[in-house]
Amino acid sequence: MAEAPELETLRAEVRSWLDANAPKTWRAESVDSEAFFRIQRDWFLKLVEGGYAVPHWPAQWPGGGKSLAEQKVIYEEMARADTPRLLLSFVSTYHAASTILEWGSKEQQALYLPAILKGETWCQGFSEPGAGSDLAAIRTRAERRGDVYVVSGQKIWSTVAQYADKCLLLVRTSQEKVKQAGQSFLLCDLKTPGISIRPINQIHGDEEFCEVFFDEVEIPVTERLGEEGQGWAVAQATLSSERGLTLLELSERMRGAMWRIAKLIRDTGRLDDAGILRDFGALATKVDATCAMADQFLTWRIAGEEQVGQASLIKLTYSRVLREFTLLGLRLEDMESQYHLPITFGGGMETGNWMADFMNSYAWTIAGGSDEVQRNIISERMLGMPREPKNWTLGDAA
Ligand SMILES: Cc1cc2nc3c(=O)[nH]c(=O)nc-3n(C[C@H](O)[C@H](O)[C@H](O)COP(=O)(O)OP(=O)(O)OC[C@H]3O[C@@H](n4cnc5c(N)ncnc54)[C@H](O)[C@@H]3O)c2cc1C
Repeated sequence: MAEAPELETLRAEVRSWLDANAPKTWRAESVDSEAFFRIQRDWFLKLVEGGYAVPHWPAQWPGGGKSLAEQKVIYEEMARADTPRLLLSFVSTYHAASTILEWGSKEQQALYLPAILKGETWCQGFSEPGAGSDLAAIRTRAERRGDVYVVSGQKIWSTVAQYADKCLLLVRTSQEKVKQAGQSFLLCDLKTPGISIRPINQIHGDEEFCEVFFDEVEIPVTERLGEEGQGWAVAQATLSSERGLTLLELSERMRGAMWRIAKLIRDTGRLDDAGILRDFGALATKVDATCAMADQFLTWRIAGEEQVGQASLIKLTYSRVLREFTLLGLRLEDMESQYHLPITFGGGMETGNWMADFMNSYAWTIAGGSDEVQRNIISERMLGMPREPKNWTLGDAA
């Protein structure tokens, strides 16, 4: 089907801008974390300058106000040009921005959104050692003392926290019977005294996320999003961003990266290997289907027709297809992939190191809500199957 003329024009504009501006040698240069993050920062600022960093923001922001179809064109062209995906700033431009846009006061929006466009980096402080899938169980405590909240506790798995300036912080402000009711949502400056950040070293050498400790940290009450006790509702805006637009971009990225598999098939002399070609064809179909699902889901969401469970379906599908994608790359490289040293920050399919990318693909079975939890949502809330027992614990599964 022919593309609408205005989309064709946009595509040509984006393509020619990318030809002139996209970094070409970033994969080879990204061999150490410092270079990787410099490339990330420079590329983000370049995108802001070009007006392509935040197409999903409202129109008053530079490059904002794009329709879903226009955003897709931009994502597709970025994927085609194999530009670095914005791993350092995705929490800022997606999760932080959408939460602040939905819940922030005019003052908070005027303070934080322009700063994001200048490169201020956010991280997300929701999970705790005893509260991940069961986010309602968070224990990090914020006690109101006059004009400030005094926060003590621990967060974990905060992506890029060691590079971040600010944190979306979910805290407990009271001990209600319904655990969600006692939560509040704070915007926290990570330079505030009493905060220590400890990166977590992963099996493949990355330090993608951190533990963040809060010891009597004073956060002004003016930095609260929503009312006291409304934190759970505010957090839904952040979580919904995690399971929405991000997945459209990621799926388009995967589709754009299919050329890497095709090239590997050619370079490893497998063009007449019927089994590999069959798997490639099946994967291409699944990748296309994932993109279509993400697109359809967002169309429903924008029209206010989102049904419970749809976000879980696309999240579950993406994580499965990503694993198949990276596994095929790994199979094609065969023993070659074993020689690669772990390199830099991953993200599922970013490094070009199939072993690292395959291992990273498992992160997507957990991040943004684990596969098991998505299956629970689909079975209980979409298909109407019986709910899990209230006092079920992981020990019961053994
Ligand atoms: C790449 C990545 C990035 C992340 N980034 C951030 C971030 O920036 N900020 C942040 O706050 N958090 C982040 N997280 C944390 C993430 O949100 C949690 O890891 C996730 O919610 C799961 O929580 P948990 O690790 O505590 O596991 P648990 O909740 O302890 O679960 C352990 C296992 O039990 C299963 N399980 C749990 N409950 C049920 C149930 N009711 N039924 C069936 N099975 C169940 C889970 O599926 C899982 O397999 C990130 C995680 C990853 C992997």
